[in-house]
Amino acid sequence: MIFFDSASTTPLHPEVLKTYTHILGKYYANSDSLYDLGTSVSNLMEQSREIIAKMLHVKDSEILFTSGASESNSLLIKGIALAYQTRGKHIITSTVEHSSVMGAFSQLASVFGFDVTYVPVNQRGIVEPEELKKALRKDTILVSIMAVNNEVGSMNDLVTLSKIVKENSRAFFHSDCTQILGKHPFDLSVLDCASFSAHKIHGCKGSGFLYKKENISLIPLINGGQQEQGLRGGTSNHPANIVLAKTVRIALESLQDHLEHVQKLNHLLRNELLKMEDIVINSDESASAYILNLSCTCMTSEILLNALNERGICVSAKSTCHSKTKEASEVLLAMGFDQKRASQAIRVSFSESNTPEEVYEFVKNLKEIMNEYRIK
Ligand code: PMP
Repeated sequence: MIFFDSASTTPLHPEVLKTYTHILGKYYANSDSLYDLGTSVSNLMEQSREIIAKMLHVKDSEILFTSGASESNSLLIKGIALAYQTRGKHIITSTVEHSSVMGAFSQLASVFGFDVTYVPVNQRGIVEPEELKKALRKDTILVSIMAVNNEVGSMNDLVTLSKIVKENSRAFFHSDCTQILGKHPFDLSVLDCASFSAHKIHGCKGSGFLYKKENISLIPLINGGQQEQGLRGGTSNHPANIVLAKTVRIALESLQDHLEHVQKLNHLLRNELLKMEDIVINSDESASAYILNLSCTCMTSEILLNALNERGICVSAKSTCHSKTKEASEVLLAMGFDQKRASQAIRVSFSESNTPEEVYEFVKNLKEIMNEYRIK
């Protein structure tokens, strides 16, 4: 099998699995219990929070454990909007965000009467600073722009965008950092808040965290519990939260080596694809090396995806969180590609464990599938 779908998820790192299993078996107490077994669980969880905060150069109190990036996005976006609505009801995001960001924005508009501006992206899938500047208003309270797009890998210039937000408004600047953590270096200090997921970096599914500057208030989605500063009620998923520090540490330690390896795979695949007829590449050369989006101009995404699957090759069309809808990729449409090309797109996404041999094998299978399809 060839697994070219690491933007969707990754297997657990063996060290994470070992520690997770150990904690799951031994430390079963509720982290809020006041006896020793409970406090030892709570201490381990707080140590994990401290380590994550230190690695990201922020305060412990600025890290909130969640069930992943979808929850972090939802908690942050709705939490800020509802907490600061007396300041203004204008919020901004881009046209190519993950469905959890899009869902939060559309709910704020339809249920709570917020005014949403969707800033466009250019042909490379990037938000132009000038477009963001034009969209900012006196009553803008939140801007949410993703770091790396999960379908095409386009990378926003968060430093410049943050500067624009700060110079032209009182809005908070949030970024969905799911596809950048452990993959590319980035500077959290330019953001007010950011969302992260563990399972994209060989951590547990249903695990992640939200970074939020200390002075920012949120209205919680799940209230009534004291956990996570009262911002996320419910018994903590402490085994996942405890191994998150190790997950992030391993990912950050090997970031440079892994990036160089994946860059080689990306160049190799790009060069092979450029030689092929009926293949067009949708990811710009400036995109993250981890993601390469392409369209096969002789068949739809669905047909190609199924044919690759029959040959043991796992890739995605669009984001996995949107994989069950039949529509063409909204991200490619927003980048200005036509309906046909957007409905023929597939996403190849790498991890450090992929090899050049797998790239050649993928290309060989792609050529065979296209030849068979043309004969039919
Ligand atoms: N944002 C982006 C950019 C993603 O790629 C994903 C994963 N598909 C998410 C958010 C959601 O992450 P999670 O699965 O942890 O909820």
